[in-house]
Amino acid sequence: MESLRVPLSGAQIMEDDVDAVVRALKSGRIAMGPEIRGFEEGLAAVAGVRHAVACSSGTAALHVMLIALGVGPGDVVLTTPFSFVASSNVILMTGAVPVFVDIDPGTLGPSPEALRQTIAALRRGALRFPSGEPVAPDRLKALLLVDVFGLPAPWDAYEALAQEEGLLLLEDSCEALGSRAFGRACGSFGRAGAFAFYPNKQITTGEGGAVVTDDDEIAALCRSLVNQGRDDSGAWLAHVRLGYNYRISELTAALGRSQLSRLPAILERRREVAARYGALLGNVKGLVLPSPPSWCDLPSWFVYVVQLPEDVRRDEVLRLLSLRGVENRAYFTPIPLQPFYAERFGYRRGHFPEMDRVCARVVALPFFTDLSAEEQTYVAQSLQDVLRLA
Ligand SMILES: *Cc1c(COP(=O)(O)O)cnc(C)c1O
Repeated sequence: MESLRVPLSGAQIMEDDVDAVVRALKSGRIAMGPEIRGFEEGLAAVAGVRHAVACSSGTAALHVMLIALGVGPGDVVLTTPFSFVASSNVILMTGAVPVFVDIDPGTLGPSPEALRQTIAALRRGALRFPSGEPVAPDRLKALLLVDVFGLPAPWDAYEALAQEEGLLLLEDSCEALGSRAFGRACGSFGRAGAFAFYPNKQITTGEGGAVVTDDDEIAALCRSLVNQGRDDSGAWLAHVRLGYNYRISELTAALGRSQLSRLPAILERRREVAARYGALLGNVKGLVLPSPPSWCDLPSWFVYVVQLPEDVRRDEVLRLLSLRGVENRAYFTPIPLQPFYAERFGYRRGHFPEMDRVCARVVALPFFTDLSAEEQTYVAQSLQDVLRLA
């Protein structure tokens, strides 16, 4: 088979996108204008909520969303250890602490039961970080949970749990724009949600993100927080709270708007790409392929992460795939084992055994909207060849 180089991801940039950015650039209005408002309206419509507040990154969106909901110094937020590091960093950025709950290998997020058990232990005062630092029993405030790899988490059970326990529920939907479950859109579960538009996401603005919410007050607060703490009177020099400059530009928003107008087609293409991998790799013994959960109405594929057969040396697979020109990544790497978290909280391998098991087997294969059938065949063939050697 002829050898190819297949990148891990790649944004789809069309002539329309270029034209939209150039038009914004020539409009004379390159910050804080109609493109941002249009982009926000489009995002709110996709999420099926009243408000979207566009900002400079998904991380910025998560950060202001937490502040707007009153998460602050000393608070405790339960979250997943199996995510991109930003979903936990933002908790620390507010002065709160993340408490990780091990994942269910089926959904790749914490099960509602595991969350419930951790909440009970925490409230009994029986929870400590491995470093020995106690977790404050009376400061539990929120659950921040993630739509992993674009597939919807079990939000019905999470919502019931949050309600029972009197906790805020927040959605990191940075990987799941356009994904749907329980008759609703990802991003709309909980009090607020966040999207992200880095170039490997379903749509991109280069850098960018957005908070989505049905809550007028939270939306207004987020709008103020991304704009230097200004109030909505519009007075340029009135700063009513500590704020940030997390704004996006008109150029960025114009690109986002143009991309968003193609979202249904983009997601359809990504579903085809995922289905083709399913057909090519479905018979490989021991290989676990990603698949939408039973409650998913419509998946929005972000990445294609397989779990290798148990007896295979994963790092050898990664190396041999790279040698064949197939870009790949061991994604996610566990958050608690990142040096910063390990040092601060004392985490080591073994503290989250289910996450460890999954993390030791995961490989992200090349996955993007314009991935060709030929490239996919090459990736699938390369993976099967490599599995025989590793
Ligand atoms: C992409 C992503 C983010 C935000 O990323 P930015 O690079 O800041 O836009 C947050 N959480 C998860 C799970 C993500 O995948």
